[in-house]
Amino acid sequence: MVICVSGGAGYIGSHMVKCLQENGLDAIVIDNLSNGHRSSVDETVPFYQGDVRDRIFLESVFSQHAIQAVIHFAADSLVGESVFEPIKYYQNNVVGALTLLDVMRQFEIKSLIFSSTAATYGEPVSIPILESDPTFPTSPYGESKLVVEKLLKWSDVAYGIKSVILRYFNVAGAHPSGLIGEDHQPETHLIPLILKVALKKAPAIKIYGDDYATPDGTCIRDYIHVMDLAQAHVLALLNLLKTHQSATYNLGNGEGFSVKEVIETARKVTQCPIETQVVARRSGDPSILLASSDKAIRELGWNPQYNRLETIIQSAWAFQQSHPDGFLD
Ligand code: UDP
Repeated sequence: MVICVSGGAGYIGSHMVKCLQENGLDAIVIDNLSNGHRSSVDETVPFYQGDVRDRIFLESVFSQHAIQAVIHFAADSLVGESVFEPIKYYQNNVVGALTLLDVMRQFEIKSLIFSSTAATYGEPVSIPILESDPTFPTSPYGESKLVVEKLLKWSDVAYGIKSVILRYFNVAGAHPSGLIGEDHQPETHLIPLILKVALKKAPAIKIYGDDYATPDGTCIRDYIHVMDLAQAHVLALLNLLKTHQSATYNLGNGEGFSVKEVIETARKVTQCPIETQVVARRSGDPSILLASSDKAIRELGWNPQYNRLETIIQSAWAFQQSHPDGFLD
């Protein structure tokens, strides 16, 4: 069984490929290397550099392998940037998924795992967020993922392409080997930025707003370890291949931490003083995002292994210390 991982050289994609290997499944990777790193993918995994919007490229890759399913990560994923560059987000995320689906249809590949986001919900109507809750994204990023979710619904009806939509909360941490981890250029995510301050590569962590309606005024997020997330994809894939039923699942830990609490935990893990600076709110950020992942636990038998925030930060710290300048490509 060959699984095609689009965006497989990215942060989550590269952990996904490792997880597939650890579960005895064969992967091939397609990635345009706009955000990913070639060296984050094992040399033994077939790698094709190209863009999911490039139909000819996809056709060429799909004609070389008997692909049974696709796990689609290739996308832009920054909430803040998307507010200022909505066309970029619709272009890459919507046109990319559209092209991929059309080529899947052509090659009669009927199973897709789609990387979606908690940003599809926008400001939650209640906490924890359930999959059935209303979706009113507050950013073009969230909206672009929601458009694709709707396309998937209709592609199931029209073409019989079955999909599992996985709505991620805040993904962090690194593979226990310390060989791969999070390395974005530029980095915008909270945990790696805090750790850069601990490594003295930045003077202070900026706190985007301390006037939210939360106990300490900073935004609350639900952090999930990247390997727990990847394992949920494997379970979703195996379930999809068995049941041929489309579904949507939240993936989070069900526990919320404020920006200030994450900083405090990082101080404990790293034993470093971490300076902070409160600045204005970042556009598009909801105040609280907290998942109910009960459905994934119940239906997929998902059993997260690294759910303590300390453990998540510890693994990210191990990667940052061994790769202070990130990947070298
Ligand atoms: N955040 C922050 N300072 C930073 C980066 C992020 O205060 O330098 C906050 C951000 O406003 C959000 C939370 O940390 O409330 C998580 O942001 P991140 O970019 O890591 O993930 P997102 O929630 O956008 O997916």
